[in-house]
Amino acid sequence: MDDAVKVLIVDDQAPFRMAARMVVQLTDGFDVVGEAETGETSVDLAAQLGPDLILMDVNLPGIDGLEATRRILAAAAEPPVVVVLSTYEADEYAPRATDAGAASFIPKAEFDPDRLAEAWATATATSRAS
Ligand SMILES: [Mg+2]
Repeated sequence: MDDAVKVLIVDDQAPFRMAARMVVQLTDGFDVVGEAETGETSVDLAAQLGPDLILMDVNLPGIDGLEATRRILAAAAEPPVVVVLSTYEADEYAPRATDAGAASFIPKAEFDPDRLAEAWATATATSRAS
């Protein structure tokens, strides 16, 4: 699919990257274009690959996912939608993700094709309306 939503997965844990890849593949209209293990790599790959959507872990070696989100959004001519994923409490991290410019926060345990499609739909509806 040429018009599929291009997704970059960022997580330092290989099992979660595999799980996230499966969720993306199971979601109609979404394709994985790359994976990054660190925040720094995600900034480079975001510039290189021009993803439409980034699934961003919070806890990463080096710069964390929130700082990586800030750098990616500051550098991109057409900023991608960033969805922050974490095992940590949504109460604590959802506001911090929003502050960093992320479109939404999804607890890893709840990440599935429905949540992915919903996050994308909400983020793109908001940007069209504004
Ligand atoms: Mg992590």
